[in-house]
Formats: sequence, C-alpha cells, structure tokens
Amino acid sequence: MQFSIPLKLLIISLVFLLVLPRPEIVAENENAGQLDAEFSLKYIVIDPGHGGRDPGCLSQSGVKEKDITLSVSRKLAEVLRGKTEYEAFLTRTDDCFMSLKQRVDFANQESFPPNQSIFLSLHCNSFRDQRIHGMESFKFDLDATDELAAELVERENAQEAVDKFDFMIINLRKRGNEKYTEQVARILQESLVDQLGVKNRNLNASRNIGVRGAPFYVLAWTKMPSILLELGFMSNDVEREKMTAEKYQRRIASALVKGIKKFDRQLQ
Ligand SMILES: [Zn+2]
Repeated sequence: MQFSIPLKLLIISLVFLLVLPRPEIVAENENAGQLDAEFSLKYIVIDPGHGGRDPGCLSQSGVKEKDITLSVSRKLAEVLRGKTEYEAFLTRTDDCFMSLKQRVDFANQESFPPNQSIFLSLHCNSFRDQRIHGMESFKFDLDATDELAAELVERENAQEAVDKFDFMIINLRKRGNEKYTEQVARILQESLVDQLGVKNRNLNASRNIGVRGAPFYVLAWTKMPSILLELGFMSNDVEREKMTAEKYQRRIASALVKGIKKFDRQLQ
C-alpha cells in the first residue's frame, strides 16, 4: 500500500505521540501503575455525585440525585468511622457544587496514598424506559460497555472537557491497579445485590452482569483504585421510592461496608 507523504507524516506523528505520553499526564499518573502487592486498605474516599447547582437526575416529583448520593455517602462514612478501622473522607459534605476536577484533586492528595486508598463515586441512574431498574458498578474503560453506559457517561462527564487522547494514555497507565479496581467493584456490587435483594441492571442486549466499563472523568484521573456505583434508577418508581427512604439508605451503607471488609480480607 502506498501512502502519500503528508499521510505518512501524520501516521508517524500519531505513533510517536502514543509512545511518548505528554509529560503532564505522566506526572499526574506516575503512581497509578505502582500498587502491586503492597496494597493495604486504610482510606475510603467517598464521592457523593453532583451537588449545588448540579442536581444530577431529577424525578417529576422533585427528587434530586444529589440529595440521595449525599445522604447515602454520609451514612456510609458514619458506619465506617463508627464500626471499622478505616478512615472515611467525603469529597463534599454538604449541598455544594464541586467540579469533577475538584473531586479528583481531593482524592489525589498526598494524604491518600494510592496503595492504601479506594475511591467510591456514588450516583443514581435514569433511563427513558422506566421498567429498567437495578444497580451497576463501573471501572474506567475507554469504551462504554453498552448503549446505556454510553448515555450515562455522557451525562456524568457533562461538566468537564474530556480529551479522548488523554484517556487513551490513562488507559495504559491504569493497568497497575486494574486488579484491585476490578475486585473492589465486583465485591461491592455482589454485596449490594445480596444484601438489598436488588438486581444487577440488565438490558436485553447485554447479558453480562459483571463490572461494566466506561470513560468516566473521575475514574480516569484518580490515582487509587476507583469505581463508580449507580445505586438504582430514579426513573423507576419503585426503586426511586426505596432510594429516598432513610432505612434503605442505611442498608446500602451497611452493604457497602460489608463489601469493603470482604475486599480487604481478600487482600490478606
Ligand atoms: Zn450522577
């Protein structure tokens, strides 16, 4: 096959750029691939999705995603602080707006070493088909697992400019903590499904009930193993009703704590 000179130059430049990542991205993620056997869980960074002028998903009855995520996150931190040895921190503790970058900067502080910390971003889902319900967990991936995940990631990333090229580099560099990310996502999802009797979210097109992947901004840039949990669908009447109840929120918190402890036991 013959390539013209400009096309050749373009291909060479692209290959060169892929082999030599931009320095700022290397610096941002220099710890991301160095977790390995030394991982020992101490810090749980909880990220209540949305807040302030960003309500997240809204129901017709006026329920806001930002209120559910904050309330569940507070309960989770309370149980972790009261009943476990882990130290829990919230990216936001009240109804304030925080950009996705601010959340990432909070998680990447030196006080949360990537080999002693996990990042849990909590959200609620929504879909035009109101029958869809269930919970799902996500890890970072360049491509969304299915149509619903693709729509979701577009909504959750809406506040921040997303550079696909940066994400490609990050995808290579996140492999060092992939094992832990996958493990924590799977265990927390199983714990929620077992303890709450909810379903894994399913679409006819996708029979895979495992951990899903999508290019979420907060998962891309956090150095520690990080996952995003969609606790249920606000577009489903039954699930929305449950998620707004204090008692059910406490059950979510306790299921997550059980899962975190199980993840930790499996590390030893
Ligand atoms: Zn959300």
